[in-house]
Amino acid sequence: MSILLISDLHLEQERPDITRAFLHFLETRAIHAQALYILGDFFEVWIGDDAISPFQRSIAQALRQLSDRGTRIYLMHGNRDFLIGKTFCQEAGCTLLRDPSLVELGGENVLLMHGDSLCTQDEAYMRLRRWLRNPLSLFILRNLPLATRHTLARKLRNQSREQTRMKASDIVDVTLTEVPRIMAAHGVRTLIHGHTHRPAVHPLQVAGQPARRIVLGDWDSQGWALQVDGQNWQLAPFSLH
Ligand code: MN
Repeated sequence: MSILLISDLHLEQERPDITRAFLHFLETRAIHAQALYILGDFFEVWIGDDAISPFQRSIAQALRQLSDRGTRIYLMHGNRDFLIGKTFCQEAGCTLLRDPSLVELGGENVLLMHGDSLCTQDEAYMRLRRWLRNPLSLFILRNLPLATRHTLARKLRNQSREQTRMKASDIVDVTLTEVPRIMAAHGVRTLIHGHTHRPAVHPLQVAGQPARRIVLGDWDSQGWALQVDGQNWQLAPFSLH
């Protein structure tokens, strides 16, 4: 039985091609898997479990069907959908994972992250992230009127797009010294994350040992998944059609 890992689908009603491809992925691949890990930015935007749209509810139902048929589903927050809460996870039959999380994959301890917390050179974003993720801010955000949350979400998205265009490319990528530091701190030789939309397998050294950082790809012109079958790990793209 294989394990599948995906991230950065940025699901939204405006991209029916990605939604269709995801539903197809569930029916053809995830259904045969023992577990499906979704490492953040599953939805393009999430303003709270009390504001689930019919579109988002249909995705929850598709996940629920999969979990009812025996595939365990694990979901981690991304920077776009960090307001996903218990209500959605109950509806979708999935377990919310902390970022970072240590799991066993293919007989190996592996660190899973969304990846935005690795981009430490982007100090403005790190400050914003610290503010957005502290329990008091989360409480305030979740209790703002819906219209205010919609406006705020739109502002954050525009700001993030604008800044990504302006910032040097090494700032929006992970900080290379941060990677071995966090891997050594968790005692792992494999790290899997998404967020940067730069799918690759990077070899590196952690505490003098060979290690690897696997970056999942976003779903846009094609889809990406990492499939783990015991010792056989394959990161590969596929067509959305
Ligand atoms: Mn992200």
